[in-house]
Amino acid sequence: MRTIDLSGKTALVAGVANQRSLAWAIAEALADAGASLVLTYQGDRLRDNVNELAASRPGTLTFACDVTDDAGIATLFEQIGAATGGRLDILVHSIAFARREDLEGDFRKTSRDGWHTALDVSAYSLVALADRAATMMEAAGGGAIVSLSFQASQRVFPRYNVMGSAKAALEHATRQLAYELGPMNIRVNTISAGPVPTLSARGISGFSNMSKHHEKTAPLRRNIEAREVGDAALFLCSSMGSGITGTTLYVDTGYHIMGV
Ligand code: NAP
Repeated sequence: MRTIDLSGKTALVAGVANQRSLAWAIAEALADAGASLVLTYQGDRLRDNVNELAASRPGTLTFACDVTDDAGIATLFEQIGAATGGRLDILVHSIAFARREDLEGDFRKTSRDGWHTALDVSAYSLVALADRAATMMEAAGGGAIVSLSFQASQRVFPRYNVMGSAKAALEHATRQLAYELGPMNIRVNTISAGPVPTLSARGISGFSNMSKHHEKTAPLRRNIEAREVGDAALFLCSSMGSGITGTTLYVDTGYHIMGV
């Protein structure tokens, strides 16, 4: 019988805000398969939440890391290296942010600052984390990196605005990183997830209508569960996904194939 066994592997999961976070669903799937977890949170506001979740998985390490801070990213990887003896096998990037005013109204009114913020936090951060992670993964003989995208990278979802631009950049970065890191046996993929009511999702105006539309229209006639994103990430990060890199994998009950 084939099973997924991640015993002895260390996974850094960035972007847990609370138990509804897609990052947490992924962390649980990886931990169920035996991986040791390192969780990061943006700042003090989420520290208690994340520490409480971490306590349910003994041995889990937690560190603060705001991905807009290069020095903070460097410190994070020093801390992980010191705690794991330099071992890192998996990186999960589950982070996005855009200003509220840039997730409603007209896309053409996006400010230069709003554009920079959304693309910095939601796309550049993958590049910055992957660079640091790759050094540790190469020493371990390879690794897997997974991020979270949304179909607004490819199609128009009214009001998703600048976050669609950020997700397009994230998907491009996934391919470019996959090309560069492939020779180190590091695979880079992204999961394009259907709507899930998380903290960030609730900040998108019209999210609940979008979710209802998805449920009615998708071939499977339902929305996804966060667990399904966790399972897909587990597959991609395990040896079962060993031939897959540079891919955007849709976990959206099939919505992306529809024309009308
Ligand atoms: P979530 O639980 O709110 O997670 C988003 C995370 O990003 C939070 O932990 C947030 O921390 C973190 N973050 C924002 N700015 C950061 C920064 N500067 N430094 C470090 N962390 C920062 O929401 P989610 O829905 O699970 O989102 C996870 C990923 O899934 C995102 O990339 C999102 O675009 C993607 N996604 C979500 C859906 C959906 O419907 N939920 C669908 C497709 C893709 P703070 O709370 O402190 O800001």
